[in-house]
Amino acid sequence: MARIVMKFGGTSVAGTERIRRVANIVRAQAAGGNEVAVVVSAMAGETDRLVNFCREANPLYDPAEYDVVVSSGEQVTAGLLALTLQAMGCKARSWLGWQLPVKTFSAHANARVGEIHAERLGDSMASGEIAVIPGFQGVSDLERITTMGRGGSDTSAVAIAAAVGADRCDIYTDVDGVYTTDPRIVARARKIKYVSYEEMLELASVGAKVLQTRSVSLAMKHNVPVQVLSSFVDEGSPPADTLPGTMIVSEAEMQKILEDTNMERQSVTGIAHDKNEARVVLTRVPDKPGAVADIFTPLGEAGINVDMIIQNVGRDKGETDVTFTVPQAELARAQALLEDKQEALGFNRIITDVRVAKISVVGMGMKSHTGVAATMFKSLADRGINVQAISTSEIKVSVLIDEDETELAVRVLHTAYGLDSPDDVVSGDDGPDDIGKSSA
Ligand code: ADP
Ligand code: ASP
Ligand code: MG
Repeated sequence: MARIVMKFGGTSVAGTERIRRVANIVRAQAAGGNEVAVVVSAMAGETDRLVNFCREANPLYDPAEYDVVVSSGEQVTAGLLALTLQAMGCKARSWLGWQLPVKTFSAHANARVGEIHAERLGDSMASGEIAVIPGFQGVSDLERITTMGRGGSDTSAVAIAAAVGADRCDIYTDVDGVYTTDPRIVARARKIKYVSYEEMLELASVGAKVLQTRSVSLAMKHNVPVQVLSSFVDEGSPPADTLPGTMIVSEAEMQKILEDTNMERQSVTGIAHDKNEARVVLTRVPDKPGAVADIFTPLGEAGINVDMIIQNVGRDKGETDVTFTVPQAELARAQALLEDKQEALGFNRIITDVRVAKISVVGMGMKSHTGVAATMFKSLADRGINVQAISTSEIKVSVLIDEDETELAVRVLHTAYGLDSPDDVVSGDDGPDDIGKSSA
């Protein structure tokens, strides 16, 4: 017997028929003698629809009221799944964020999970009742409803798994695991059987949206075993315990798996892309000590997340250009703030561009392989793709390119690092489920 938290994303619960299939998967886990809690997303497209309502009602919406609106999608799914399970003869009930409660702190619309008081939930699970929990939502210190940022149901699931001491957190989605890159972009992407928390964290933070970044850091912190697998399975498929998906493991476990299977770690584990960045260029900034500090300090104080930074070689007359990226959603704020300080900062113009994409290659193997960045630059150059900015970490290299070249760049790099699956596998069982996609 195990204690399992199962999470189902938007496409997996996209209507009552899909919810019935989910209920079957849940029932099978419970029938195996396991204690089960289920975390659900809103139906596919529902959160987008609710966000649009908020924008229509008031373009400068109050984030606290936004949370009241957008959290409702998950509540509908939770109630419907509990009803469906009951109709199948299972004991099941829903637990809303405020009922557990899932305490959160800091900003509305982007809340972070704090404490979860899961005693009652644990007791209910132990009594054989299936707990159905809407993801994405929590409750603030002021007892108002909060949401945890887009994709936040992953984080709810991992947080609840940690709180009830679950043996496993299974994240069911519309692909059957974590792939070497988004399988919807590269048909020859390969499913990864095991990936370390560190690599998954880096992949998620640079755009692999299969897991919300915070869910991975939380799993790593609390050592929650996380598995990513598909809810689009036949009724007769093997049970989740037999590992059909991707298992996210600690670095120590990863080392052991590599040793046991006599495999060498490749330099690059996965490739991700992110089209939500914007490029900012400040021209003719005074080339003197303290100039860049004066630019980036107020951005940091305003909570604007600066990612890639380039300071060009100084021009004549002690001036230089400074290029950096910010999330598109924060561009307007960053621009207004810098324009306000234009005189003090002494730059000439501010040029912005949202038609850029960040492409990142990630892998623990980079620590022991050389030439990873060089391969990236050469492969892109061979296809005439211009690199506008670069950033690196110990296990990642990112480049900023023209947005129109995103798909080409990802494909070229996927081949260059030897990640393509063999031809014969492309249309075989290892491919992702062939279904339409829309985010919840
Ligand atoms: P859910 O609604 O279940 O939370 P998401 O849309 O948030 O699902 O995440 C699943 C999607 O993530 C997949 O459909 C896939 O297109 C995308 N994705 C991006 N990068 C990867 C990757 N490396 N491996 C698997 N899926 C990925
Ligand atoms: N429904 C929310 C969203 O679409 C949360 C989630 O699905 O994880 O962002
Ligand atoms: Mg998601």
